[in-house]
Order: sequence, then C-alpha cells, then structure tokens
Amino acid sequence: MDNMFNKVTLREMVLKGKRVLLRVDFNVPLNSNLQITNDKRIRETLPTINYLIERQAKIIIISHLGRPDGKVMPEFSLKPVAEYLRVALKKPILLANDVAGPETYKYVRSMKEGDIVMMENLRFDPRETMNDPEFAKELAGVADLYCNDAFGTMHREHTSISKIAEFLPSCIGFLVEKELQILGHAITDPKRPFVVIIGGAKIKDKITLISRMIDVADVVLIGGAMAYTFLRAQGYNMGRSIVEKDKVQLARLLLEKAKTQGTKIVLPTDHIATGEFNFAAESATVSTKKFPRTAMGMDIGPATIRAFKHYISKASTVLWNGPLGVAEFQKFAKGTNQIAEALADAKAFTIVGGGDSAKVIEQLNLQDKINHVSTGGGAMLKLLEGTELPGLKNISNK
Ligand code: AMP
Repeated sequence: MDNMFNKVTLREMVLKGKRVLLRVDFNVPLNSNLQITNDKRIRETLPTINYLIERQAKIIIISHLGRPDGKVMPEFSLKPVAEYLRVALKKPILLANDVAGPETYKYVRSMKEGDIVMMENLRFDPRETMNDPEFAKELAGVADLYCNDAFGTMHREHTSISKIAEFLPSCIGFLVEKELQILGHAITDPKRPFVVIIGGAKIKDKITLISRMIDVADVVLIGGAMAYTFLRAQGYNMGRSIVEKDKVQLARLLLEKAKTQGTKIVLPTDHIATGEFNFAAESATVSTKKFPRTAMGMDIGPATIRAFKHYISKASTVLWNGPLGVAEFQKFAKGTNQIAEALADAKAFTIVGGGDSAKVIEQLNLQDKINHVSTGGGAMLKLLEGTELPGLKNISNK
C-alpha cells in the first residue's frame, strides 16, 4: 500500500526526442453547443504537458470522453478539448480522426520534438473498457514511453489505464503525483486532529471508506442520507427518511468499532425535514430525539451545522466527501454550503473530493481557499480505502 505513493515520475525518465504516450483524463463536461463547462481536469494536466514540451519530447495525448460505448459518435469527439489546448498552450495540436489507426500513425511519423498529437476518444474503440492486451499493444506501438496522468480514471481496469504499462517503460505525471502525495499523506501521516466529513446517499457505497477513516481519523462527522441508518442503529426512529434497513447492523458494528478505537463519530442531532421529497416542500427543523413519524430528513439542521463547524475549526487536517443533504435542491443545500464555507475558513489543511462536493466548491467559488480539490471521485475513494489503483499497479516504484 505505501508503495503506491512512490512511483516513478516523468522526472526520472529521459524524454528528449522520445515519443511519450500521455494518458490524461479529459472527460470534461460539455454543454449542448459542445463547449467545455468545467476545464479543471485539463488545466491540472498542463504542468505535465508543459514539462514534456520543455524536455523536447514528442507528445501523443490519449483520453476518453463520456460513454460512446465503443462506437464513433461525433458528439463525444475530443475536438473541443484539442481546441482548448491550442489556445492554452499556444501551439498547434493535431487531432487524428482515429485511435492508433492510419491517421494517428501518419501524424506521429511527422512529429518533431515538442510537437503534440492527440488520438480521438479512446472509448470509440470497444476494447478500451476491456483491458484488452491487443488494443494495449496497438496503442503502445506508436510510442517509446507511457505516462499516466489520468487520476480521475486510475480506478478503472481499462486498457489505456492498466494494460499499456505492461508494454512500455512507464511513469506517472505530475497531477497523479500530486494527488498521491496529498491523499497518501492524509491517510498515512495526517497532521492531527484529523477530521473527516462523509456525506452522500448510501452507506453501501462508502462502508470501506468509513471503516478505514475510523482507523486513521480522530473525528468522523457523518451527514447526508447515510446518517439516518447510523441513527437508526442507535435506536432512533427516523420517520420516512432513507434508512438502509439491511445496513443497520453494519452501522452498529462501525459505531462499536469507532468506540473501541477511540475515534469519535458525530451524527446529526437535528435535521431539516419535510413531508415529501420535493424541491419546494415545506420544511421544519426537527431533532433526532423527536423525529416525527411522517417526516423525511432532507438536510442537517442548525445545531448540527454548529457542531460540525466546531470540529472543523479545531482540526489540523480536514477531508470532506459527499453532500450533507439534498444539495441539488437549493432549499436543502444549506448544510452542505455552510460546511464548504467552514472548510474555506478553516486553518486546517483542507481536502475535498468526489464529484458532488467538488462541484459545490466551484459553485461557491471557494476553490482558491481549499488546499486540495481532488480531480478524482471514485479514484480518490478507492485510494483512501487502501485499494491498489489499477492505473498504478504496472508502474514501477522509484
Ligand atoms: P453520493 O453519490 O453517495 O455522494 O450521494 C450523493 C447524493 O446523496 C446526492 O444526490 C444527494 O441528494 C443525496 N442525499 C444527501 N442527503 C440526502 C438526504 N437527506 N435524503 C436523500 N438524499 C440525500
């Protein structure tokens, strides 16, 4: 596990004149006019691309975008990304119309040092998601080296993520290095007190994460729908709130484990509750102890927000994943937004990850006040859980 954080990087490779196959995660959101609506994942790979340009490598960029399911679909073309890169890097970018096909080969043959060629969307080929050795060989065939800087996809057993490294000398890029350093440090040697905030809908998806955070954190604050299952495990009736009945026993075991290990688990003492799941539903603040039988929890309440803020203000490291209420509905986004603001104001080293939480940080324009907003959702969770990421397993340690 610890070896996961000590991988060979671009700094250890001889790059001049070498064809470098650079796997990035340019799976960015596009609007109906195919314009990029969030460029974070591209921006975060620019240090790697610029380094390769400076070191006079020949750069061949590969990425997926969306889910074209193995078919060529123009709406999933990487054209908008190539256009973005032309502007950001002030360089011509040749986008081949195929994936390791004749046009890719033609462009690569004509490359000079510092040039950039991109292949089309990897997922236009059905073999991308199959971890296919033949496809991996075809991709590897165009290059001398492979560099993985696609942190957001590192948890996938996909050809361009975990297979290619079997066929080429391989390393990680600077975005992956940064993510591994920061997240790795948080779970192996955090500055204490270490406070972890976990929200979201289902315990099922985050059991391993919660269990592991009980091992490494000092305090775990739990919000979102999953808190109701924990409260049920403590004997409270949570009315019509989402309770995962088949996970109540597991929640009880996790609470016991925390007690044995001296990790504090803090659950909501009050809630914003409604009679129906609706964005405009009438709501009231109710306590955990007197939760009405007909009510449904939609957000954490004011006393819980105060308690969570207190722990955040005392922390030296804070890690947050998952919304604390139904944050898609403005009316029930208060708990989530207030916790985001508290992180921005905290003196602690702050880390945020997961699609929903990272989106809230962007919406509130707090990204400059958070130490690290991870580019990975699933990949970050897997890494924190201690799972070996498929994207790292074939890359050597330093
Ligand atoms: P996850 O993907 O597990 O991080 O869960 C995110 C989802 O949890 C969001 O769609 C939220 O709307 C949902 N969620 C958070 N709190 C609640 C709640 N009290 N009731 C229902 N859904 C919730």
